[in-house]
Amino acid sequence: MKNVTHWIGGGPVEGSGRTSEIFNPATGEVAGRVHLASVDEVDAAVAAAVAAWPAWRDASLVRRSQVLFRFRELMYAHRDELAALISSEHGKVHSDALGEVARGLEVVEFACGIPHLLKGGFSEGVSTRVDSYSIRQPLGVVAGITPFNFPAMVPMWMFPIAIAAGNAFILKPSEKDPSASLLMASLWKEAGLPDGVFGVVQGDKVAVDRLLEHPDVRAVSFVGSTPIARYVYETGTAHGKRVQALGGAKNHMLVLPDADLDLVADAAVSAGFGSAGERCMAISVVLAVDPIGDELVDRIVSRVSALTVGPGDDSASQMGPLVTGAHRDKVVSYLDLGVSEGAKLVVDGRLTSVLGGGAAQETPGFWLGPTVLDHVPAGSRVHREEIFGPVLSIVRVSSYEEGLELINGGEFGNGTAVFTNDGGAARRFQNEVEVGMIGINVPIPVPMAFYSFGGWKASLFGDTHIHGTEGVHFYTRGKVVTSRWLDPSHGGVNLGFPTNG
Ligand code: NAD
Repeated sequence: MKNVTHWIGGGPVEGSGRTSEIFNPATGEVAGRVHLASVDEVDAAVAAAVAAWPAWRDASLVRRSQVLFRFRELMYAHRDELAALISSEHGKVHSDALGEVARGLEVVEFACGIPHLLKGGFSEGVSTRVDSYSIRQPLGVVAGITPFNFPAMVPMWMFPIAIAAGNAFILKPSEKDPSASLLMASLWKEAGLPDGVFGVVQGDKVAVDRLLEHPDVRAVSFVGSTPIARYVYETGTAHGKRVQALGGAKNHMLVLPDADLDLVADAAVSAGFGSAGERCMAISVVLAVDPIGDELVDRIVSRVSALTVGPGDDSASQMGPLVTGAHRDKVVSYLDLGVSEGAKLVVDGRLTSVLGGGAAQETPGFWLGPTVLDHVPAGSRVHREEIFGPVLSIVRVSSYEEGLELINGGEFGNGTAVFTNDGGAARRFQNEVEVGMIGINVPIPVPMAFYSFGGWKASLFGDTHIHGTEGVHFYTRGKVVTSRWLDPSHGGVNLGFPTNG
């Protein structure tokens, strides 16, 4: 049985009280326990970070960059081990877990360029013999609170940049799949990061609340569901912290009648069912503009029927189980709800065969196969609410305008995609849609590390997106220096407001 500890001051630290179960989602069995931090345990992690920070802040840019390079190489060398850990606790298939490690590593690679990213501006002679320049400095101790669905990638949206910029970072991972955090912590140590600069507190609301209230935590990055994102933003800012809190999503794919329907069907199935739909950028609604609906649904259904569902460590599996039994049950409840709201259940994932088992609903483990609901009524709960599972809803619309209105009328604004061969229509869509990340014939438009990731509306609280240059900005604060080195002749007293001249 696994015993997942904290990581404080450069090594594993046992908790002293509560624990929570970690499951193997493919079998439903308990695979271990994770400690849930008390207030005192969070305080110990913050104290270790406070003690470590000044020396790390003062480490040269080149030295910091060298540690980042070494961490990158170690993470790359251990990527299979990390992916196996993720798969064993999250359930996603190994290749998908490797994909999240690769996308996270891109942020590490971006952060290796910190000497360039932290360059300020310099203006010589802003006034007579006066120069001005800007610098950006780290904040101190910052924290990241992350969701279950990307136990490596989402923390890596945060800590490479925070640490490269000269901060100490405390990670509070999801208690559902916490083991990746400890492997990453040990690799930071091996890379030469001083003890205390990266810490991990395992836990739940108790740990989150303490991080949000602790006076020595200067900034909090959060990724998770919308209600908790809103709470973290409001509580953290009320305690004087800088907060970026990324929330949930309901991502629509608008399919115009001129689109290549094979390309669309491939994209919708890949983006809807990859990682069992437990991705914040998953496509969960296809808006089929008349008259292509029936033909598109046929093509989607034939692809869905060919998918192989099975354990994440079986290389034949394309889709694994859901993360917990409670989450699977919640997702399943939307199937009957959808039918009661008037949708047609064209593929029922409860009946999907699982590799090595029987029908999903009878196989031990947290199984639900890919599910397709057609003719989902616009505005119904199944259409509006985040389900976060392998359920693809098809909503029929009569025009581009009707589709756009449905997207813009929703609560969330994380990602969206348009599929068309008409450049003018695509350009109009990118201009008119109220969403933060847009794909044009690309179903999951996750920005590269050198751009920033973030949605609009209830998908993001705060004004700074994550990673890229906005990430560098979030984890630093600016100073502008105005300097004059007097020549030997003194200019005399002047009480006027300084103007240039
Ligand atoms: P969650 O909100 O339940 O948990 C996220 C984090 O908050 C975890 O670390 C958890 O321990 C903590 N938490 C949970 N309840 C809390 C409470 N009451 N008080 C304080 N902290 C609490 O989210 P999840 O189920 O782990 O992840 C799935 C959600 O994350 C989905 O809604 C998904 O859309 C969202 N997500 C969003 C993005 C994005 O970039 N916008 C990316 C990934 C996931």
